[in-house]
Amino acid sequence: MATIRVHDRVFTEYLSAAVIQERVTALATQINEDYAGKKPLFLAILNGSFMFAADLFKQIRVEAEISFIKIASYQGMRSTGQVVTSIGMEQDLHERELIIVEDIVDTGKTLHHFLPSLQQQQPASIRIATFLHKPEATTFEVPLDYVGFSIPNKFVVGYGLDYDGMGRNYGALYQLV
Ligand code: 5GP
Repeated sequence: MATIRVHDRVFTEYLSAAVIQERVTALATQINEDYAGKKPLFLAILNGSFMFAADLFKQIRVEAEISFIKIASYQGMRSTGQVVTSIGMEQDLHERELIIVEDIVDTGKTLHHFLPSLQQQQPASIRIATFLHKPEATTFEVPLDYVGFSIPNKFVVGYGLDYDGMGRNYGALYQLV
């Protein structure tokens, strides 16, 4: 089993790059069907979603825009609980079909606190696409429309997700040993 070391920790491969790509393709196909004739605006939440957002967006075949925003801070292996206001949101969201692109929904706190600020701007719709979901960790229910993988409540890195800034640079996903 392939392992990587990030800082002081060892992680083992949990989802291969090929398995991830296959799933991302399936999500893109679904989104293309659901948004036929529409012009969605993808809002990719930095930093963790950059790889998922890029792979997903490359396979979108409806007219679409993408914007990258930053909303939350995360340190170490647990959510800090602090949610920072969004940076980089310049678009007018009124009447737009929004698709939020997240790396992982853990407790749900980040999106729970972020969604009202989007709703205030009266978009036509809001859907959430998340690469990963940890159902066991949920404390704030948020409606997830497109989920790449539901995973156990263990810390993961790779495919854009970090451990204290490192480990984002892998096409596969790794789980803490
Ligand atoms: P939530 O607000 O849903 O608890 O947390 C979402 C954020 O926590 C994610 O965007 C991500 O930055 C971070 N996070 C939660 N679980 C993990 C994990 O297993 N690995 C990494 N790298 N980040 C995580």
